[in-house]
Amino acid sequence: MKTQLSHPIFKVISECADEMNVQAFVIGGWVRDLLLNRPCKDIDIVAIGSGIELAEAVANKLGGKHQVTIFKSFGTAQIVYEDYDIEFVGARKESYRTESRKPIVENGTLEDDQNRRDFTINALAISLNSKTYGNLLDPFEGQKDMNLKIIRTPLNPDITYSDDPLRMMRAIRFATQLNYQIETTSLESIKKNKERIKIISKERITDELNKIILAPTPSIGFKLLFDTGLLHFIFPEMVALQGVEIKNGKGHKDNFYHTLEVLDNICKTTDDLWLRWAAILHDIAKPPTKRFEPDHGWTFHGHEDKGSRMVPKIFADLKLPLNEKMKYVQKLVLLHLRPIVLAKSEVSDSAVRRLLFEAGDDIDDLMKLCEADITSKNEYKVQKYLKNFELVRQKLKEVEEKDNIRNWQPPISGEDIMKAFNISAGREVGIIKNAIREAILDGIIKNEYEEAYQFMMEKGKELFNK
Ligand code: ATP
Repeated sequence: MKTQLSHPIFKVISECADEMNVQAFVIGGWVRDLLLNRPCKDIDIVAIGSGIELAEAVANKLGGKHQVTIFKSFGTAQIVYEDYDIEFVGARKESYRTESRKPIVENGTLEDDQNRRDFTINALAISLNSKTYGNLLDPFEGQKDMNLKIIRTPLNPDITYSDDPLRMMRAIRFATQLNYQIETTSLESIKKNKERIKIISKERITDELNKIILAPTPSIGFKLLFDTGLLHFIFPEMVALQGVEIKNGKGHKDNFYHTLEVLDNICKTTDDLWLRWAAILHDIAKPPTKRFEPDHGWTFHGHEDKGSRMVPKIFADLKLPLNEKMKYVQKLVLLHLRPIVLAKSEVSDSAVRRLLFEAGDDIDDLMKLCEADITSKNEYKVQKYLKNFELVRQKLKEVEEKDNIRNWQPPISGEDIMKAFNISAGREVGIIKNAIREAILDGIIKNEYEEAYQFMMEKGKELFNK
């Protein structure tokens, strides 16, 4: 273990702790990630005594270049060293009351501090004092659970989850990130305590949800959220996607599991949280738009449009940002069927131009989403659809090279129009501008100043000589 503690900062902490005659340990996520070989820039130091005083001594020894930020009400202190974020805290004992996830905190021993940790793999500590430097303290067999790939609570899971229900989300998050199993009694306990998630703030829940979404295979987490019943509280619109209805012998696909396949697919091509959210939400309006038409079977007409309009409420409920990220997700949900339409029919240049105009710079992400949306079990069909999309991509490229629509700026501005006809801002300017844009998208004129100017003069004559 000693070699892994070779970073000079640990030596400095060790010397300070010895000089102050307090015990100090590195604990929690950093130790877990060290044993899992995952890089970790957050270091938690626990002192059997004052964490703040230890932090001040460390900052002093570092030569005064590193500021200590003290959070008095939490009894913690932070030093930013290179790209490490080091938190110091005194060992504590926590006791909980039912109505709040805020515990009563008292000073405690290392054991008390390890007892209050959420999972055995998060309760490991390494001693930093010189006499015991590098000794691993693993009271709950966290290392064994790592080998078995198990998420387990140090204490009775009913107490752990009921005390702080956020831990239910964290259990599922770690199971997803690490591809571990949640131990059976723990899983049962989450099912039992699921309602207590209501006392947790939306921000914290969504923070964990986003970590699940950013994992390599997020479907693991969503299935656990669904099976435990937590998803019903935190994201009911997604639960509504689940299930198959059969009428006249015709069924539709289960849109929950389809969505999860699309999400896992897109994760192979992007690390972007918002493109992943677009995959989660692409079919979100299938339940409210579902109809059975005797001649056609199940239809979901307009689900892309309704889905796009559902996004703001879902983002607001989950406390996701209501900014350009949300608009991006809305746009992809709205347009997610368009490349499929292009792939099915004879593709006209004008249809391609319109899609480029509407998708703009997000066209590549849209194509990724559409390709991820192919979830047929029939490999022949998958290959056929992928090939069709290859043709669409090629066509998009050709039209873009020719017409440069992707970042479309009108070749004629409103100012140009006002000047040419000596008019002031008003309805007519908008009419002429729209007509120019439509003519370019339909391929009647080229996307350039000369042709657009000519076209504007003709349109103006029609409009003003009536
Ligand atoms: P990551 O760094 O991947 O977000 P982490 O759990 O290592 O996850 P933190 O959330 O900063 O990072 O937590 C640090 C440590 O604090 C954990 O390893 C765990 O020991 C403890 N901890 C954090 N949250 C809780 C909680 N809700 N209940 C009990 N212990 C917790």
